Amino acid sequence: MELKRRPRRLRANETIRSMVRENHIRIENLIYPMFVMPGEKKKMEISSMPGVYNYSLDEFIVALHEVIELGVPAVLLFGIPESKDSVGSGAYHEHGIVQQAARLAKQHYPNLYVITDVCLCEYTDHGHCGLIENGQVLNDPTLDLLAKTALSQVRAGADMVAPSDMMDGRVAAIRELLDKEGFSHIPIMAYSAKFASGFYGPFREAAGSTPQFGDRRTYQMDSANGNEAMLETDLDIEEGADMIIVKPALSYGDIIYRTKEKYGVPLAAYNVSGEYAMVKAAAANGWIDEKRIVLEALLSMKRAGADLLITYHALDVARWLREER
Ligand SMILES: [Zn+2]
Repeated sequence: MELKRRPRRLRANETIRSMVRENHIRIENLIYPMFVMPGEKKKMEISSMPGVYNYSLDEFIVALHEVIELGVPAVLLFGIPESKDSVGSGAYHEHGIVQQAARLAKQHYPNLYVITDVCLCEYTDHGHCGLIENGQVLNDPTLDLLAKTALSQVRAGADMVAPSDMMDGRVAAIRELLDKEGFSHIPIMAYSAKFASGFYGPFREAAGSTPQFGDRRTYQMDSANGNEAMLETDLDIEEGADMIIVKPALSYGDIIYRTKEKYGVPLAAYNVSGEYAMVKAAAANGWIDEKRIVLEALLSMKRAGADLLITYHALDVARWLREER
């Protein structure tokens, strides 16, 4: 049969396939989320996230050694504080757990790129991302605390801050305070399109941040909405976000695609805890090929338009990529 176009010609063997491959996962694209907590010599595995741990600071430094060895360039830090209160004061304390971790990380590994999550939910006794009054999450009074949190993290050495709270105007508030205090060079990576998702379940176990009443639907986005994600992204960039995050990633490829197409700014896909847990559970049962599934899932995020991948699989991926070289 006479066919002018035969796409199979370029699939004949691995050499030509790799020559025409459109997307790649690179170690340089990986950001590894890590959880730090008070105490000593503690490395507690999160039961729903095999291979992911809560670290005391001494163990955190040990774990960072492996991150560095594998060439993963960046970590995203979350903290589990000693105690929680209604105003989340552990989030913006000079010696808060994340501030201590950032300080230590930069002392030991100056070239490691330290990104800190900016939110209150891990530090509030009610588990919400903002201040509460009469059962409502207050927007504007929360902004000052988020900005204070970001400033304290940057003072401790954070290279970049990542607000995840979804309050209106948080990027502007953080930018303004950082600029005022002499940190105009510190970039903001905003969780611009963060959806109220069932895929966050295992993370809440890890961070102990399950809301004590209600849910987060008054500030995180409805998973049915795509246009709203454009609005949120628009606002964050307008307010000064240097990079944006789409979270979760796997079920939101359209959002990654649309935001990247429309705004063109560097974009990170957050491959969240529930996505990780599903893969791990299926792999533990021998139902899937873990490596293949993880790389395929991450590649789908890159194909959709993600530049960076925030993933709990980061160390495994770095190992696999090194083996292939
Ligand atoms: Zn939060």
